[in-house]
Amino acid sequence: MRHGIIEQYRQHLPVSDSTPVVTLYEGDTPLIPAPRLAQAVAPGLQIYLKYEGMNPTGSFKDRGMTMAVTKAVEEGARAVMCASTGNTSAAAAAYAARAGLDCVVLLPNTDVALGKLSQALIHGARVVAVEGTFDDALCLVREITARYPLALVNSINPYRIEGQKTGAFEICDALGDAPDFHAIPVGNAGNITAYWKGYKEYHASGKSKKLPKMIGFQAAGAAPLVDGAPVDRPQTIATAIRIGHPASWERAIAARDESCGLIDKVTDDEILEAYQLLTTLEGVFAEPASAAPVAGLRKLHAAGWFRGFEGASVAVTLTGHGLKDPDRVIKTVPHPVVVPATLDTVVRALGLER
Ligand SMILES: *Cc1c(COP(=O)(O)O)cnc(C)c1O
Repeated sequence: MRHGIIEQYRQHLPVSDSTPVVTLYEGDTPLIPAPRLAQAVAPGLQIYLKYEGMNPTGSFKDRGMTMAVTKAVEEGARAVMCASTGNTSAAAAAYAARAGLDCVVLLPNTDVALGKLSQALIHGARVVAVEGTFDDALCLVREITARYPLALVNSINPYRIEGQKTGAFEICDALGDAPDFHAIPVGNAGNITAYWKGYKEYHASGKSKKLPKMIGFQAAGAAPLVDGAPVDRPQTIATAIRIGHPASWERAIAARDESCGLIDKVTDDEILEAYQLLTTLEGVFAEPASAAPVAGLRKLHAAGWFRGFEGASVAVTLTGHGLKDPDRVIKTVPHPVVVPATLDTVVRALGLER
């Protein structure tokens, strides 16, 4: 039974008994063992998929948004605003609707996945597409929310991180301890920050015994943390991580270094291969950005990075649902053949005749 992450983890979150909780019963997402995927990409490791596509709007952003919108309501806000590559706007629009707040969204005018745009629109957000990147949009949102009475709900809002850290709590609760490694895609770097905070807090409160090594993955065309410099024109088919100036840069580096982990990059081809391995080997459909850590595990395993860690557990955050970006499927896999509606032709098309 889902209670929503605020009810479930109240004692770890900045809420009081009088806080007006805004929830769509997010969280409590499945942690799926993935033995066939592990055999294909990193034999010897135990892979667990944290399937965040099962949240109400189809991404982990709901964990952060229930907190951000709850606190906005508590503080008397009438409207919220965000910049988004898509999923933040979907979550903001839904939770704002739930709370009776107005929602304003700035999107880059290219490469927002259709599912995400549809969500922001159908929940009644005011959506403006700017001729620029996500980073340009976030800059504008910072300026506008400083001047006008709109609550900023991007992950630079600390309540977003508070909500998102509950993903780490759920993994520890499911496994009985933290995993040995945690693999995650990195865009604006709020989520790697949140998971590391969650693991550290659970450890400090005695609810887990270990701390995982955090291993983050960026897309090769949008890898500022790996290359060590901001990227002005980020490029990748994994639009959720198409970000060149990550807002949580320092905290992502701290998560990497404090955990003795790593942040690496994977190419779009590697991401698309991993995307299809997830769906065909495990039946789990996640959007391309979510496949980046799977591609990353494969790359690191092939390079011998996991030598000495045979049997280790790896939790992978699958950040968003595959249905968010149906265009990507259509561009990636062969289309159905069209044949006349007769037994003969169908049998022949299926290769069943002998
Ligand atoms: C937001 C998002 C990311 C990136 O998370 P950050 O906190 O920006 O690093 C990755 N995948 C999906 C599906 C997302 O929606």
